[in-house]
Amino acid sequence: MNPQAVNLKYYVVDFFLLINNDHPKEEGDEMVEKYDVVVAGGGPAGLVAAKAAAAEGAKVLLLELQAQIGGQTQSASWVPKDLLTPKLKGAVATKLKEVRLHALHEEVRVRGDLGAVVDRRQFDKLLAAEAASSGAEIWLSAPVRELLVTDGAVRGIRTEAGGWSEQIQAEVVVDATGARGEWSSLLLRKVLGKDWHRERLAFSNEYLMANLKDEKVAELIFTSYFAPGGYAWIYPLEKGFAIAGIQGIRIHPDAALDEFIGKQAPPRLTGAVPVAAFRSQLPLGGPLKQTCADGIIAVGGSAGQIYPLSGQGLRYALRCGEIAGRVAVDAVTDGDVTRERLSEYEQGWRSEFGSEFEVGGLLHSSLSVSQDRKMDSLLRALVGKPRLQRAFIDVFTGFKPMRALPVLLKDAEIARVFGRETVEKALALK
Ligand SMILES: Cc1cc2nc3c(=O)[nH]c(=O)nc-3n(C[C@H](O)[C@H](O)[C@H](O)COP(=O)(O)OP(=O)(O)OC[C@H]3O[C@@H](n4cnc5c(N)ncnc54)[C@H](O)[C@@H]3O)c2cc1C
Repeated sequence: MNPQAVNLKYYVVDFFLLINNDHPKEEGDEMVEKYDVVVAGGGPAGLVAAKAAAAEGAKVLLLELQAQIGGQTQSASWVPKDLLTPKLKGAVATKLKEVRLHALHEEVRVRGDLGAVVDRRQFDKLLAAEAASSGAEIWLSAPVRELLVTDGAVRGIRTEAGGWSEQIQAEVVVDATGARGEWSSLLLRKVLGKDWHRERLAFSNEYLMANLKDEKVAELIFTSYFAPGGYAWIYPLEKGFAIAGIQGIRIHPDAALDEFIGKQAPPRLTGAVPVAAFRSQLPLGGPLKQTCADGIIAVGGSAGQIYPLSGQGLRYALRCGEIAGRVAVDAVTDGDVTRERLSEYEQGWRSEFGSEFEVGGLLHSSLSVSQDRKMDSLLRALVGKPRLQRAFIDVFTGFKPMRALPVLLKDAEIARVFGRETVEKALALK
């Protein structure tokens, strides 16, 4: 092949058109396998999509870049109780009985049954077990390097690792590659030719801390100095471990986390030591306007299905993954995998969650301006009002935002914090 061809955006290899191929291979050095649905990415969204598609009888292959499922997300996540199926309860590290909210000058302790912290290493592997039980094939250490495109439609992928390379044909590719790393966000980057907006991208770092006292208490610390447009957190695990993390816009997450732990010195972390670090990033600008194209569906982090106010996303990843898997198989059965046919997926998730993402975006934009002053006022308004405190948790986390929103915004002080325009717009979305 002419080496100059590498610089062209499109060029032909075999009978496929490859996009952004930096590593052209000789013709004939690859096998071509065929599947109904190929899922790129073995995080929660991809695993559930694979399970749903395989459960409908489709031939499904899931490819994970890392050497193990959950390899990129080894930390902990705070989830609502109703997300935990009997199987997923196996990943619960702590049932939360208290959440402490800290602003610059105010502190509030919210008590009750506040969901659970799950160990993501376990959580994601349990989802993988379910996908495999439904009949999905899972390949590890198998990064998707390219999309195979013909006549403008995605027809498969190429996976490549350690000198081994393979083209795989798919009726539908599910892009579940998340939003972290150069090989992620395939629909956005490789099909739509765009990237995440830097001003809406939160950077994060988390430490697994050892040698803490076990407490069933999570802490959220709102501080524009360490975490502009975001916050820091401590999520308890078991046996003296906890996750201490930080996320913010335009921060260097490693420096921000070290500075936060060093300068803020949360009393709970006194004597604790970091034993692992997990860097990540989160698109907080809301979901992509387009989450499918001919032959491809994006789901979870790679579709921007992240709640902008807190950055949580497991609720969406699991449900949208389920819709994606089902619609993919129905489209294959119909013999029509055009964007128009696949848009049933887009309509499905938007009708369930579209308003939530908009509300989360509105509230996040409002709180990002004069963050410290607003968070102080907000916490002050919550003091001594358990029902309001609970509503704040449900709105902030995105556990039940639409149900809790009217309760939260009915409080005059809280409505003042967000501002009349934001409140009116948010309530109109209800
Ligand atoms: C710091 C942080 C804290 C969070 N806390 C919470 C929380 O407390 N509660 C909550 O609900 N949500 C939380 N979230 C959000 C939650 O983690 C995401 O919503 C969820 O992980 C999205 O799942 P996913 O499957 O879309 O993507 P991911 O979990 O990112 O998984 C993507 C997978 O694709 C793989 N991959 C990437 N590129 C390729 C490729 N080219 N080929 C093959 N595989 C590839 C990756 O290795 C990874 O395994 C948090 C996120 C971050 C970053």
